[in-house]
Amino acid sequence: MDGRNRMTQEEWGVLSERLEHTVGRNNFATWIKPLAFKDIQDGIATFHVPTTFIGNYVSQNFADAILHELHSDTPSVRRLNFTVAAQSDARPIAHKAIAHKTAAVSATKAEQPTTMPRAKLDKRFTFDRFVVGKPNELAHAAAKRVAEGGPVTFNPLFLYGGVGLGKTHLMHAIAWELQTSRPDLNVMYLSAEQFMYRFVQALRERKMMDFKEIFRSVDVLMVDDVQFIAGKDSTQEEFFHTFNALVDQNKQIIISADRAPGEISGLEDRVKSRLQCGLVVDLHPTDYELRLGILQSKVEMQRENYPDLEVQKGVLEFLAHRISTNVRVLEGALTRLFAFASLVGREINMELTQDCLADVLRASERKISVEEIQRKVSEHYNIRLSDMIGPKRLRSYARPRQVAMYLSKHLTSRSLPEIGRRFGGRDHTTVMHGVKRIEELKQSDGQIAEDLELLRRALEA
Ligand code: ADP
Ligand code: MG
Repeated sequence: MDGRNRMTQEEWGVLSERLEHTVGRNNFATWIKPLAFKDIQDGIATFHVPTTFIGNYVSQNFADAILHELHSDTPSVRRLNFTVAAQSDARPIAHKAIAHKTAAVSATKAEQPTTMPRAKLDKRFTFDRFVVGKPNELAHAAAKRVAEGGPVTFNPLFLYGGVGLGKTHLMHAIAWELQTSRPDLNVMYLSAEQFMYRFVQALRERKMMDFKEIFRSVDVLMVDDVQFIAGKDSTQEEFFHTFNALVDQNKQIIISADRAPGEISGLEDRVKSRLQCGLVVDLHPTDYELRLGILQSKVEMQRENYPDLEVQKGVLEFLAHRISTNVRVLEGALTRLFAFASLVGREINMELTQDCLADVLRASERKISVEEIQRKVSEHYNIRLSDMIGPKRLRSYARPRQVAMYLSKHLTSRSLPEIGRRFGGRDHTTVMHGVKRIEELKQSDGQIAEDLELLRRALEA
């Protein structure tokens, strides 16, 4: 390759000024200026952008113009890639393909390095920035305790919960804190996927001794998203040995997963029981108060970037109410809102929120249907859908049926008669009776309570 592939930041500066004529002064200031040229590799020019919103906008509207200018200087450039710079694991932004003479712009995937280094810690994932509420207070307290780096009292600490509830955040926070509280400790954080990747690589390169050596010498091991190794037998086996070796030496292990150890199918029983023998804590789905708290704290952070932006009363409450899926979505919504408001120079009010977040709000409106509930519940209890809806009164059908009625009452906006109709034309009093029965059982029967919780989660996921 010739030297023209190595464009510098300065050269980009000069070149980008030519763009000012093409796109106009305003567009230039708003959209092109914020781009930070990173590099050109394999014909792909990468830019850091401050927000996903800007990246998307630029790629949809100015990719052609940028590519044209780049091309005149560096003919090998074929594509543009925008990644959000604030994130340590800069994620590429998908953007639509734009034809340009011989060149094309399309989304590119971040390249996998051949050797995967220790996972980077996200600077934002600290205890300071973790908002504590009822649903996560136990997990937070346990994480704090482990982060003190004192004597190991529970091993492993097993954190579990649905996506976007803060598992990774808490693990990174532990790692950050340990760097200060116990700089002498060798702390290793990685995802289960990376664990597998390294393991396979060690096998391939015949470096198992090194692999074992590395993992046996850490003082604190954190493995994120351990459900990933379910069904992957040899990785599981190696994980089990690593785990045991560390526990024997009284080294702290912290594990996360999207569900409780016992519920990860494809995981060997001995692994499950090992995972359960420490402290298992659950991050519950967020409630309204926690979501509002998180939003308020994120607004404070956004203020650093946008000091003049005002958020009108009611907007955060509206978002906390409407976006109940996961915190990541909530966060993304807020980032977009600030970027949008600052670009159009308006304050953040309800109207702007509705405009800017129409897609997010629509997606979170997804309604659960009675049919979906019936399907999930019959799967859960291993009965046929036809038996759930049919006339049989056997207890083994009647109980799941009542559970499904209960969930239909609580998770959909259907009336009792409407629900009855969907259960093979049953009367609304039958539905009412079923719902009542489950409400009683929920108090007295731990198994039912657990089933309900599991099903609700699965349905709301
Ligand atoms: P998980 O690993 O459980 O899928 P993450 O830890 O990646 O979720 O969290 C998703 C996003 O939500 C992150 O940006 C994180 O900072 C944020 N987040 C989650 N819970 C909280 C919280 N309690 N306070 C502040 N931010 C949170
Ligand atoms: Mg995670």
